Amino acid sequence: MSNLEQTLSIIKPDAVERNLVEEIKNIFKKNNLNIIESKKIKITKDEASEFYKVHQSKPFYNDLCSYLSSGPIVVMILEGNNAVISNRKLMGATNPKEAEENTIRKIYGLSIDKNSVHGSDSLENAKKEIAFFFKN
Ligand code: UDP
Ligand code: MG
Repeated sequence: MSNLEQTLSIIKPDAVERNLVEEIKNIFKKNNLNIIESKKIKITKDEASEFYKVHQSKPFYNDLCSYLSSGPIVVMILEGNNAVISNRKLMGATNPKEAEENTIRKIYGLSIDKNSVHGSDSLENAKKEIAFFFKN
């Protein structure tokens, strides 16, 4: 049974800065995650704080929001079968040191904070995050 979903992906500043956008996009495409929307933007710290609000009580929240707003990012809607979980598997663990071989974070991630990509962690959050960046 197919289960077509959409999820939100972000290529974070560390990866945009290292010109990894096309390489990372190719990994999505090869793994049957179609990029149906994509835009390169720079967000403000207030916008990053709103986006990462779920983490507001965490010790890393302030640095995380500063970081996501520190340079250009690429936000994308990925569509495919079980897109939410497939993208999370392709990304690998939050800490690149713990990520499995051949995952995006294992290949490109620099550290737990500069881990190259964001991906929605549930279908419900995917809908909210897509609306956050792509509301018409
Ligand atoms: N993060 C961090 N320090 C930590 C945990 C997380 O800087 O100890 C950052 C990291 O960039 C991560 C983001 O906060 O991607 C969101 O954390 P989450 O636990 O949601 O990880 P993810 O869903 O991105 O794997
Ligand atoms: Mg998360």
